[in-house]
Amino acid sequence: MSLRAQLWMVFLAPIALLAGLYAFGRTLDVPTLGRGYVIHLELPPAGEPADLPKVYGPQDRSRPLVVIDAGHGGHDPGASGQGYREKDLVLELATALRDRIVADGGVRVALTRDDDRFLVLGERFAIARALGADLFLSIHADSAGEIGEVSGASIYTLSNEASSEAAARFAARENSADMVNGVALAGENDTVSTILVELAQRRTQGDSAEFARLVAREGEGVLAFHPQPRRSAALAVLRAPDVPSVLYEAGFISNRNEAERLASPEGRQRFAEVMARAIRIYFARQSNAT
Ligand code: ZN
Repeated sequence: MSLRAQLWMVFLAPIALLAGLYAFGRTLDVPTLGRGYVIHLELPPAGEPADLPKVYGPQDRSRPLVVIDAGHGGHDPGASGQGYREKDLVLELATALRDRIVADGGVRVALTRDDDRFLVLGERFAIARALGADLFLSIHADSAGEIGEVSGASIYTLSNEASSEAAARFAARENSADMVNGVALAGENDTVSTILVELAQRRTQGDSAEFARLVAREGEGVLAFHPQPRRSAALAVLRAPDVPSVLYEAGFISNRNEAERLASPEGRQRFAEVMARAIRIYFARQSNAT
């Protein structure tokens, strides 16, 4: 028996038993406490794990839901440069976008993290899936190390084969966030068969590409894009098989001008307006298509 299974038996099985009794409306007499004492368990409503993030916007489940993922966090700062850390910068961008979407109305929005905490990559899209998200947007910022002049945003969608060597290096770096002391925390032990995942992924790939295209279109002339902004890479955070997912690299924080622009209120606002518009158009088209 694996260690995990043993832990389940020892710790979780009694809780599951109590939860089961609760679910069937029974109470459990505890003899040692005497008559009249019962155990009451507070359980979250079915289908809503207690630790899922808050959903902002209209509390109407028929409204589309976008989950915004600020990359990195906690002990993983991501890229750094010019006195900025990726984890802080992208959290500010994500929060600005959430507020913009809420202000525009009509679309529900949640953040995978709204503070400086670490989430493994699998957790990020697991949150999107658990909330029933219709779109997943992961926000990152890049660094070109000492090469200060490299700049521009890129829009990534998932590919099985990295579209270029640069994309492959990027995938390796972003995916390494799940490596702790050389041990991979996520991506293993998938219970869903690879074939089923791939079939579902193929369906969502088209939608992901459509959203990426809209971001490029709406951002043209407003956001500073890399000369080749549309990329694909084998990014673990984009692997939700049933939620269209895009990773937005907001720019290079190793470039002083870009770092300062992205960190400024105006830069954040410009980003939030473009993204919110792309999201709105994407959902409008999806609802027309069905
Ligand atoms: Zn990153």
